[in-house]
Amino acid sequence: MIVPSVAPVSKRARRTLWSAAFALLLLGPPAAYLAREGVDPGKLLGLAIVLSGIVASVAMVLATIGASRIRALTTAIGIDRVMSGHRWLGVAAFALVVVHLVVAIVRSPKLLNPLAASLAIQFGWFAFVGMIVLSVAAAWGRRRGTRYEWWARLHVVGAALALALAGLHIVWLGDLLSDPVMRVVCSVLAAALLVVLARRWVWQPLFSQRGAYVVYGVRDEGGDVATLALTPVFRRRALRFAPGQFVWLRLHRRVVGVQEHPFTIASSAELTDRLELTIRASGDFSRALARMQPGRQVWLDGPHGSFTPDAPERVDGLVLVAGGVGITPMMSMLRTLAERGDRRLHRLVLAERPDQPLFGPELEVLSRRLELDVLRTAGRRVDADLLAGVLPRARGRLEYYVCGPPGLLSGSLAALEELGVPPGRIHSEQFGWTGPLPVTPAASASPADGEPAASTGDVPRPRRPRTGPVPTPSSARPRTAQSPADRFPTHPSIPLPAVDATPDRRERAGGVRRRSAAGRGAGR
Ligand SMILES: Cc1cc2nc3c(=O)[nH]c(=O)nc-3n(C[C@H](O)[C@H](O)[C@H](O)COP(=O)(O)OP(=O)(O)OC[C@H]3O[C@@H](n4cnc5c(N)ncnc54)[C@H](O)[C@@H]3O)c2cc1C
Repeated sequence: MIVPSVAPVSKRARRTLWSAAFALLLLGPPAAYLAREGVDPGKLLGLAIVLSGIVASVAMVLATIGASRIRALTTAIGIDRVMSGHRWLGVAAFALVVVHLVVAIVRSPKLLNPLAASLAIQFGWFAFVGMIVLSVAAAWGRRRGTRYEWWARLHVVGAALALALAGLHIVWLGDLLSDPVMRVVCSVLAAALLVVLARRWVWQPLFSQRGAYVVYGVRDEGGDVATLALTPVFRRRALRFAPGQFVWLRLHRRVVGVQEHPFTIASSAELTDRLELTIRASGDFSRALARMQPGRQVWLDGPHGSFTPDAPERVDGLVLVAGGVGITPMMSMLRTLAERGDRRLHRLVLAERPDQPLFGPELEVLSRRLELDVLRTAGRRVDADLLAGVLPRARGRLEYYVCGPPGLLSGSLAALEELGVPPGRIHSEQFGWTGPLPVTPAASASPADGEPAASTGDVPRPRRPRTGPVPTPSSARPRTAQSPADRFPTHPSIPLPAVDATPDRRERAGGVRRRSAAGRGAGR
C-alpha cells in the first residue's frame, strides 16, 4: 500500500498560512487597540506602555504555542524554523517587556518600589522575574555541556511563571479588559493558549493512546549505535509519517520529572506495523534506550518535522548529505524509495567516523535496488570540491538534504551555495537546538518550494574551480541488477522471541496483535 507523504504544494500553502496567522496574531491586537483608542499626542508615553505590553504578551503566547509540538505547525514549517521562531519571539518579548518597564518607570518613578505598589504592579514585577529566569535558562542551555533536562525544566518553569503572572497583571489592572473588543481579543488568545497547553501537558502525556508503543526488539548497529523496533499498542498500524520525520520519545506516562527526546524514524514509511528508531548513545537517555528489553512500553509524540522529500514528479533525484547518526532520516528516505520502486538518480554522502561505518551491508543492497551512489568521505571535509565530484551536471531539479552536527551542516550548506544550488532546493535539519541553528541560504532567489526550477537545466557554474581528488563513489562499482541481493528486504529482521515469551506484559500493555516472526517477514 502506498502511504501518502506530506503533499509538497500544500506544505508550501500551509507554511504561508502559518506565517500569516502568526503575523496577524502578533500585529492584530495592537492594531485593534490603536483602532479603538486612536493616537492622542498628549498621551504618547501611556500609549507606548500599553502597546509594548500588548505585543510582549502576544509574543510570549505565540512563543509558547509555537514550542508546544503542534504537528500541523512542525510539519508545515519544520522544527528548526519553529525553534528559531520560538527563540526570536522570546527575545522580542523580553526586549518589549524591558521597554514596557522602563517607560512605565519614567512616567511614574514610584513603580520602582514594588513593595509600595498595587497588587497589579506586583504581578507585573513577578512576571518580569519569571522572564529573567526563562531567559537565563535559555542562555545557560546554549553553553556546551549543560544538561538539557535541567535548563529545559527551568525554562519551562520560568515561562509558566511569566505567562501566569503577566495574565494576572493584565486582569488586575483592568484597563485593557474594560474595552469590549480588547476583552474578546484577550479571551481568544488566552483560550487558544489554554487549549494548546492542555493538549501538550495533560492530554498528550497522560491520556492519549495514539502514542503508546511497545519495544519488540533492539538491533545492535555497531559501535554505540542501536536500532529500537517499536510496534503500536492500541492501534492496528503504526503512525503514518513521511520519511525524514521524527518523534519525541518518553519512557513514562507522567508529566513531572520525565524526559522526552526527539528521534528520527529510520524505517520505511511503507512499513505499516512498526517503527524503527536508530539511536547513538550520546548521553544517559540514549544509552538507556539501547539496553531496553522487549516488551517495555514507551510513548511517542509525532510525527513532526518537514525534513521530507518533495513529490517525485517535481524532483529528478535526491542528494543526501549525512553526518554520523544524521543518516537516520536518509535511511528512511532510501528505504521508502526502494520499496516504492523509485527509478530516479540519488546520491548519498556520508561523513562518519571511519571506525563506525553505519548500515554498510544494507546500503550495498539499497544501491542496487535504487539508482544510488554512496560516497563515504573517509574523514575528508565535505566542501564544494567534494560535492562537485559526486553531483551530476543537471543539478537544478535535484533536492538536497543535509543532516548532522553543526559543523557538517554549515560546511555543506556553504558548499552547496558555492556550487550554485538554488537555496529553495536545500533542506537541513540539526539534531539539537541548543547550539546555533543552521541558516539555510535565503530562499528569495530560489524557485518556490514545490515548484520546478525554471528549466530542467544545470545550475550555474561553481564560483570556484574544482581541485583535488575526490573519494570514489559507489557508482564506480558495476551494478549487478537483479542479483539475489536485490530481492533482500531493506530491513534486517529483528528476532521476536523475547516479546512472545512475555505475553502477559503485552496483554497488559493493551492487546498488541500477535504476529509470528514468519508473518512479519512476509509482510516486508
Ligand atoms: C529533530 C531531531 C531528530 C533527532 N534524531 C536522532 C536520531 O535519529 N538518532 C539519534 O541518535 N539522535 C537523534 N537526535 C538527537 C537526540 O535527540 C539526542 O542525542 C538525545 O536527545 C540525547 O539525549 P541524552 O540524554 O542521551 O544525551 P544528553 O547528553 O542529555 O544530550 C546530548 C545533547 O542532545 C541534545 N538533547 C538532549 N535532550 C534533548 C531533547 N529532549 N530535545 C532536543 N535536544 C536534546 C542536547 O543538544 C544535548 O546537548 C535528534 C535530535 C533532533 C532535534
